[in-house]
This record gives sequence, structure tokens and C-alpha cells, in this order.
Amino acid sequence: MEISELITKSSSEQRKALLNKEVSAVELTEAVYKRVEETDEKIGAYNFLTKDFALETAGNVDKKIKNGDDLPPLAGIPLALKDNINLKSYPTTASSKILANFVSPYDATVTKKLKANLIPIIGKANLDEFAMGSSNENSAFKIVRNPWNLNKVPGGSSGGSAAAVAAGEATVALGSDTGGSIRLPASYCGLVGLKPTYGRVSRYGLIAFASSLDQIGPITRTVEDAALLLNTIAGHDEKDSTSLNQTPPDYTQDLRKDLKGVKIGYIKELCSEGLADDVSASIEKAINTYKSLGAEIIEISLPLIKYSIAVYYIVATAEASSNLARFDGVKYGFRAKDADTLYDMYVKTRAQGFGDEVKRRIMLGTYALSSGYYDAYYKKAQQLRRLIKNDFDNAFSKVDVLLSPTCPHTAFDIGSKIEDPLSMYLTDIATITANLAGIPAMNVPVSLDKDKMPVGIQLQSDCLNETKLLNVAFKLEEAVQFNYSIPSVTLV
Ligand code: GLN
Repeated sequence: MEISELITKSSSEQRKALLNKEVSAVELTEAVYKRVEETDEKIGAYNFLTKDFALETAGNVDKKIKNGDDLPPLAGIPLALKDNINLKSYPTTASSKILANFVSPYDATVTKKLKANLIPIIGKANLDEFAMGSSNENSAFKIVRNPWNLNKVPGGSSGGSAAAVAAGEATVALGSDTGGSIRLPASYCGLVGLKPTYGRVSRYGLIAFASSLDQIGPITRTVEDAALLLNTIAGHDEKDSTSLNQTPPDYTQDLRKDLKGVKIGYIKELCSEGLADDVSASIEKAINTYKSLGAEIIEISLPLIKYSIAVYYIVATAEASSNLARFDGVKYGFRAKDADTLYDMYVKTRAQGFGDEVKRRIMLGTYALSSGYYDAYYKKAQQLRRLIKNDFDNAFSKVDVLLSPTCPHTAFDIGSKIEDPLSMYLTDIATITANLAGIPAMNVPVSLDKDKMPVGIQLQSDCLNETKLLNVAFKLEEAVQFNYSIPSVTLV
């Protein structure tokens, strides 16, 4: 296989080529950089590259192969790291002007694990500023374009991570997901995206957006790659007190298990109204596939889903307004010039450093937390959040996995929603509840719509049941044979 083709394949195919010495890890990494050179001007997936680091890591992989040493499962597999996750001695910008000149003094825990597993990090991937958005149009530096059609958004906020994998500019990626930011871009770019259970992966070294919702997770071309990357990053971390003190299983162990007797519930409220025709057709295709694999299909009603956007935009903005208070021109990054007083410096720094969407969130959140409004908004939202979680607990007493679309429609045109925040927020109607409930959820690509854009479906399971979730996802992937190879539009 030509190396230009190999870089578009899954990690297992690349590993085979490495172990058979058909290609070296340095050659593989260099081929990915060649691809970045050819395409990224159009796509905009990376904020910046980390070439010295990636080539040094690849060199170490080659030494190990030469010596016949054991090789970690993803050693030498090129990865894109979302630019809100710290890599020591490189900038972490969160695609914000306010952090443009910030260099991280330490590694995030996930980054440490990537390093220990000899995974070359190709670069820091673009995102919506502070991970706030669904289209990657909120980056302070540049938008990201969808490799399947350059006029469409890649989804957000992990749009750079997803576009990089879809375009062959990385084999796998890490994103973060607060309300759908891994799953939505995965679905718009024809990839697998997994948000793990809240607390499954350490967030130490991830720039916090909404701390009761944030999780880091994989964006990959195959379900198996998602399981392998989750194996690499999962586990307890004493530096993150919300990380679960429970040893993770091997997430690849049940991938191929048959589905006889497995109960899959489709979510009535998300599978009926307001769906694009091709999305409805994909849901039907997934349901029929599962039936033919011996699973039992059950209708599940989650009536409180209709409140989820409202609940999320109170909880998430409240937490964001508190988390973003630290960016004041004193401790990190950018500081406005020409300020007369300390107060003036704060105001000017924040006014010039934050983009419009981030300011909107800070104002909404500050309002929701202010005295007199706290009970009416924040407390009410938390109460509803509990009731939404109860609905899920109830559902998982009847079924193993829930099925729905990941988004009611496929990737939309760049510029078409950016002036209308509410319609942008509504793209997350299917994904937000998993974060509110803390459960794992993933996107699996199923088909293409009439414009040849990918359609994904979302699968969700109960907390810490990722092994079952991945098994159900793997079986669908195997049956539908979605072609994850590079979209022709990017071929140069
Ligand atoms: N699109 C949602 C938002 O704008 C979710 C973002 C995310 O998951 N980081 O908040």
C-alpha cells in the first residue's frame, strides 16, 4: 500500500505496516506532515504543528521496533490534540486571543499518557474559542472547513480534531465534550466520537469550560481505534478529584460479542419530529440492522429532553462564568495596554481578549448566578437536571443501550447559523443530555445524505458501561461498512 493511502487507514492497519517494517514511524509521521502541508491551508484543522516533538517520538518508536521491544498498541500512530489540552512547553490557546501567548508549563494527564504510549502528537487542533460552539466558527484565529465539503462546517467545538482525522492529517484525535463537542464533529465528518462517562478520564490540564460536564475523549476512524485510545487515557488521577477511583477494563474485550438478546431502546422524542429525511432513514437503517443481528428493539420515552437545552445553557454558562474569571490579564496570556487603573486593565483585557460567544456565555452565566435570580434559574436547572438523570436511570433499567440521531440534520453551510445563537444551540438537542446525566455516549457514522455528507447515529449507555456501548457500536460499524476513507474533495 502506498504511504499516502496508509495514512488514511485505521491504527491497526498502520500498526501492521510498522511491525512488518513496511514503513517506519518516522516515515509515517512525515507522510502525515506532507498531507498537512497539502491540505491544511484549506481546512484549518491545526492552530500550530508540533513537528519536532512528533518526529522525536516517532524516532523512539523506530528504535523500539529495531530492538524488538514491546510496543504500546498506539505507538507511532499520529494524533491531533485539541488546543485546550496542555502539552508542556507549547502554547495552549483554546483558540482565544486571551491565551494567544500562553505557553503551558506542564502536561495534562492525558498528554502524559500519550507520551508514555509513544504517540506522536502532530499538532494542536483548532476549536471554538474555549470549546463554546457547534461549528468551529467561533475560533479567534480561523474557521475550520469540513473535508467532505469545504463550504460546510465540520461541527464544533472539536472541529479541528475531527477535520484533521477526516482529511488524513492525523489518524486519531483527542477532543473534549461538554454538550456534544466530540460527537457532533464526529458525526459531521463521518467519524467515530466517544464521550466517556463523567470522571472516567482525568481533566487535569484541560482548560475548564463547565466542570460538571466536561470530558475528554477519542475521535477516530473506527470503533476499535476509539476503544484503544480510551484504554490509553482512562483511569483514576489523584490530580483530578472528579476522576473515578475504579480500574478501567480493557475496552476492546467485548467488541466482537454477538448482540443476541441485547436490548436497544430508540428515544421516541428524538427519533420522530424535526429530522432531516436522510437522518430518519439512517435511524431506520440502524434499527433494522440491529434487529437482523438479534437485538431486541424497544421504544423509550424521555419526556424531559425538551428542557435539556434550557437546563444546559444555565448550568454550562454559570460554570463557564466562574471558570473564565481567572483570565484577567494578571495570571495568564494577554494583557491590554494603555490601562489607567487595575480595574481598567481587567475590563480592557477581557473586552479585547474574549470573542462574542464567550462574552455572551459569561454574561448569561453571571446573570443566572446573581442573587435574586439564583433560585429562579440555577437551582431550578439543577433540579431539572436531576429529573433528566432519573429518566435515564429508568430507561437503563429496561434497555442496555439507547439509540437516537446525533444531530437532527447533517453539516450545515458555513455562515448559515452564526448570526442566530438559538438555532446554533439547537444542533445539540440530542447530545447535551448525556453530559447532564454523566453517561457515556458516542457517534457512529452510518451513511451519506443526498449531498454526500455523513450521517451519524448516537448510542448511549449507563455510566461506566463503555464496553457494552463499544460492542453495540462495533457491530453496527461492521454491518453498515461506512467508508471512512478520505473524502475526495480534499484530494490534491
Ligand atoms: N455546542 C455546545 C456549546 O456550545 C457544546 C460545546 C462542547 O461540548 N464543548 O456549549
